[in-house]
Amino acid sequence: RAKANGRGQAIEYDPELDRERQQVAELEGLLKSAINSGAIEAVFQPLVSASTGAVTGLEALARWRTATGNISPEIFIPLAERCGLIDALGVHMLRTSIEHAKSWPDLALSVNVSPIQLCNPEFAAEVISVLQELDFNPNRLTLEITEGVLMTNPDQARRSIDQLKRVGIKFALDDFGCGYASIGALRQFGFDRMKIDRSLVWALDEGANGADVLRATISLATALRIPVTAEGIETTRQAAILRDAGCDQLQGYLIGKPMSAYDISSKLEEESAA
Ligand code: C2E
Ligand code: MG
Ligand code: MG
Ligand code: MG
Repeated sequence: RAKANGRGQAIEYDPELDRERQQVAELEGLLKSAINSGAIEAVFQPLVSASTGAVTGLEALARWRTATGNISPEIFIPLAERCGLIDALGVHMLRTSIEHAKSWPDLALSVNVSPIQLCNPEFAAEVISVLQELDFNPNRLTLEITEGVLMTNPDQARRSIDQLKRVGIKFALDDFGCGYASIGALRQFGFDRMKIDRSLVWALDEGANGADVLRATISLATALRIPVTAEGIETTRQAAILRDAGCDQLQGYLIGKPMSAYDISSKLEEESAA
C-alpha cells in the first residue's frame, strides 16, 4: 500500500495498488467495447400472479459474458456507474429488452434503472424517444429503481419520475427492506409497486420473527394501495407465506430463473399449449 507519512505525502511506491488500478482500467475498456458492440445481453425472469401463477411480466437483467467467464452485474453495474458508462449501458438494456418484449405482446416489461441515470436531466426524454422509435406502449413498461437516488438527488429524481409517469410508465421501488427507503418515499414519489428484497424473504428461514416483519411491511404497502412483489423466492413455503401475507406478484428461482429471450419464448409457448 502507498502509505502517507505525517505530512500527507505518499512515501512508498506500491506495485500491487498499481496493478489493481491497471486491472480496473482494463476492465473499463472491455466494458466500454462490450456495450458498444452489443455484447451485454438481456435475460428475462418471470413475474407471476400470486393468485393464478400465470406469468404477467418479465424483468430484464443484464448479462456480460466474456471469453474468460461471466461477470456479474453486481460487479459491472457499479463499475459502469463509476466510470461514466451507465447511461450508455442503460439505454442499450432498455432498447434490447424492448426489442425482445415486442414478441411477447401480452406481458409487462420491467427494466432496472440506476439512480445515476435517473439523475441525468436528459434521461426521461431519452426513454420516451426510445419508446416512440420502437413503437412500444409505455403502459407496458415499469422502471425499477433502488432508494439511493431518493436520498442523493430527490428533486431531479422526482422530475424524471413525474415526466415518465405522465406518459404512462410505471415505477417500482426495488430492494425494499435492505436499505433506508421509507414508506414516506413510496408515497412521495408515486411508486406503483414495491419489491421486497430477497434478504427479507430469506429471513423467513432464519429468525423467529421473519414472517411478522414481512407481514407488517406488506400491510403498510397495502394501506397505501401499493401492490407488492416478493423477489428471491426459492421454496414453496416462502411462496405460501408471501401469498397469505398479501403479495400479489411473486418472483424467484422457484418460479423461474432468469432466461434467454429464446428460452422465455419456448416457456410461454408451452404454457399457452397447456
Ligand atoms: P435486482 O434488480 O434486485 O434483481 C434481482 C436479482 O436477484 C437478480 O440478480 C436475479 O438473478 C436474482 N434472483 C432472482 N430470484 C432469485 C432467487 O430465487 N434466488 C437467488 N439467489 N437470486 C435470485 P442479478 O441478475 O445478478 O442482478 C443483480 C442486480 O444487478 C439487480 O438486482 C440489479 O440491481 C442490478 N442489475 C441487473 N441488470 C441491470 C440493468 O440492466 N441495469 C441496472 N441499472 N441494474 C441492473
Ligand atoms: Mg430489479
Ligand atoms: Mg431487487
Ligand atoms: Mg438488487
